[in-house]
Amino acid sequence: MSADTPRPEIRLKGIAAAPGVGHGPVYVLLQGMGIVACEKANDQEAEIRRFEEALHATRLEIAKLRQEVVERLGESEAAIFDAHLLVLEDVALIDDVAKEVRKTGFNIEFCFQEVAQRYITIFENIEDDFLRERASDIRDVTGRVMDQLLGTKSAKPVVAVEKQIVVAKDLTPSETASMSADSVLAFVTQEGGRTGHSAIMARALEIPAVVGVRGLLDAVQDDDVLLVDGEAGLVFVNPSSSTLDSYRDKQVAIKTRRSRVMAEVALPDETVDGAAYNLLANIGGPEDMEDAHTYVAHGVGLYRTENLFLRLDAWPTEEEQFKEYAEVVRQAKGRLVTFRTLDLGGDKKLGDLTDEANPFMGYRAIRLCLDRPDVFSSQLRAILRASVFGPVAVMFPMISGVEELRRAKEFYQIIALQMASEGVLPKAPIRLGAMIEIPAAAVMIDDLVAEVDFISVGTNDLVQYLLAVDRGNQRIATLYEPANPAVVRTLERIFRSAAQRGVTAAVCGELAGDPLWAPLLIGLGAKELSMSSPSIPEVRFILRHSSGEELKALAKASMGHSDSVKIKNLLADFALSKVKHRT
Ligand code: PEP
Ligand code: MG
Repeated sequence: MSADTPRPEIRLKGIAAAPGVGHGPVYVLLQGMGIVACEKANDQEAEIRRFEEALHATRLEIAKLRQEVVERLGESEAAIFDAHLLVLEDVALIDDVAKEVRKTGFNIEFCFQEVAQRYITIFENIEDDFLRERASDIRDVTGRVMDQLLGTKSAKPVVAVEKQIVVAKDLTPSETASMSADSVLAFVTQEGGRTGHSAIMARALEIPAVVGVRGLLDAVQDDDVLLVDGEAGLVFVNPSSSTLDSYRDKQVAIKTRRSRVMAEVALPDETVDGAAYNLLANIGGPEDMEDAHTYVAHGVGLYRTENLFLRLDAWPTEEEQFKEYAEVVRQAKGRLVTFRTLDLGGDKKLGDLTDEANPFMGYRAIRLCLDRPDVFSSQLRAILRASVFGPVAVMFPMISGVEELRRAKEFYQIIALQMASEGVLPKAPIRLGAMIEIPAAAVMIDDLVAEVDFISVGTNDLVQYLLAVDRGNQRIATLYEPANPAVVRTLERIFRSAAQRGVTAAVCGELAGDPLWAPLLIGLGAKELSMSSPSIPEVRFILRHSSGEELKALAKASMGHSDSVKIKNLLADFALSKVKHRT
C-alpha cells in the first residue's frame, strides 16, 4: 500500500472501562518500560553521558546474568544474552538516540524510548522470522536500560504524551495514576477488566478508556489514528470519515444528556416518594476532592489510601500520610471522610509485594496490616491526627471473619488510646466499619454486623471471589458477571442482615456508580452508594426519577430469577424507562 493510501478502518471490541470519546494519534507504550516524562534537558551532553553510563551498567548486568546461567544451565542456554549484548553495541541505535537528544533537546529517557520504539516497530514488521525475533531482544534490553536510567535519576515514570491515545498491553495502577486528561485523550489496553484499578482510575480521571481488547497490539501501529468509545467499549483504528461523522452526532447527544443530568446534580438524594439514600465519592487522594464537590457528593464513602503509596512507589512516613489525609479532611468541609485502611496487594503492587502466584488471594489489605504493625500503626496514627479537622470513619478491607475483624478493631483501639493520651482528639466520634468483599464475610454477615457501625460492600472483589473469576483477566471477562443470581442473592442477604441490626449498609464497588445497577442496589436495601464522582449525576438522576416502590419491585423481580440474562434484561429495561424522562 502506498504511503498516502488511507489505511482501512479496523473495528475492535473490548470492555467499556470509562465513558467518553477520544480521537487522536496513537502512543504505543512499550511493555515494561513505563511511561516516561518528556522534559526539556538543561544539558544535552550530560543526558548523553547518562545514557552511556546506563548502557555500561546494563552490559555489566547482562554479563553477570549470562555467567550465572552458564554456571547453572550451560553455555548454549546463555547464548540468548549474547544477542542482548549485541543490541547494546548497536552503533546505529546508540547514535540515533544521541541525535534525538541533540535534535529535540528532550531528556534522555524520552528520546531513548522514542528511538527504541521505532526500532521495535521496524523489527516487528519484518517478514523473516529470525529477524522479527530481534524485536523481543530489543524490548527486553531497552527495558533494562530504562530501569538504569530511571534508577539513576530515581524518577518515577509519569505520563509524557501530548494529546495522544495511549495503547498498552496493560497498565499498572501507578502508571494510570500518573496520567491526566489534559495530555491523555484516551487509553486502550489489551488486558484488564472493568473493575481493575486502572479502569477505576480512568473513571475518576475522566479519561475515556477501553480495556481487554483482544488482538490490540497486533492491530495498532505507532502512526495510526484511533477513535475510542469508552461507553460502548469500541476502538476504531484509522476511523473512516463516516465513522467520524456518526461520532460527531453521538458526542452532541452525550453533551445534551450530560447537561440534562447536571441540571439536577444539586437536588436531594431521594426517590419521588421521599425515600432517602446517600450518594458519596470514591477518592484516591486530595486531587479528587474538587470533583467530589462539583458533583455534590455527600461525603467520601471510600478513600483508597493505598494510592499515596502507589504514587510515591514507596512506603510513606506517618508525616507524609498525615499531610495528605489532613488535606482531604479539610477539603471535605465538614462532610464525612471514610478512610479505607491500606489495601495493597492484588493488582496494587509495591516493591517486594510482587512475587505471588495468586496475588488477589495473597498477602493483601488487612492481612498485610495485621502482619506489619509498624505499617498499620503509622497509618492509623496519621488518620487519627487528621480526624482532628473533621468527621472521619475507618473501615477495614478484605475482612474474612469475626476474629480478623476483632483483631483489626483491637489494634485500632490501642492506637486510638495512645493518641488520646497524646492529646489527639477526633473532631467527631469515629465510626468503624468492615468491607464485605469476601464470600466468607457474606456468610458470616449476622455476626459481623454485630461488631461494627457500618458495612460497605466491595462488589469488585465480592464478585470475583464469589464466582472465582479474576477481575482483571480479559480471557474470562465474560464470566465476571455481577448479574449472576448468586451475587444478587448474596447482596440481598447482606443488606437484610445490616437492616435487622440497624447498621448502615453501603456499596463502594463499581456497581454503585453504574446507572443500571444503582436502582437494584437501593431496591435490595443499600442505604449509601459510593462511586467515582463523575458517575454521581447519572445515578442521582435515575434514582430521583424512581419511586421506592418501583425499586423494591425491581429487586423482588431480580431475586426471582436464576438466570443472569433475565436479571440483566430487567436492569436494562428499568434504566431505559427512566432515560425517557430526559427527552
Ligand atoms: C471493591 O472490591 O469493590 C472495592 C471497592 O475495593 P477495591 O476495588 O479497591 O479492591
Ligand atoms: Mg476490594
